[in-house]
Amino acid sequence: MPTLPKEGTKKHNKHRHKVNPRIIDYEPCQLCGMYPAVITHEIFHNNSAYMRNLSINYHAQLNLCNTCHANLHNNPLTEKAIKAEHQQKIMTEHEMSDKQWLGLFYQNYL
Ligand SMILES: [Zn+2]
Ligand SMILES: [Zn+2]
Repeated sequence: MPTLPKEGTKKHNKHRHKVNPRIIDYEPCQLCGMYPAVITHEIFHNNSAYMRNLSINYHAQLNLCNTCHANLHNNPLTEKAIKAEHQQKIMTEHEMSDKQWLGLFYQNYL
């Protein structure tokens, strides 16, 4: 059974992303396809620099418009689905076992 995020992990005000000037006008939002994406969202953020860096290293990032980004953070189920999708992708690409995944990301989202 996947563990649900604990209460308090989704403190919206603590989760901030820098607006990424590089992607403006170049990239569409990866959820709705609108231009421009203005925020790079780290998928496994959990309010820690360690998780942010892991997300960056494994390319678990999404370029999003403000609307989709806000929706994502306001809908734990959507966020969980995206985490699961990317966990699957990363595990497949890197031939990771469940154990290896947990050793890095601490939580199983599948
Ligand atoms: Zn969007
Ligand atoms: Zn975000």
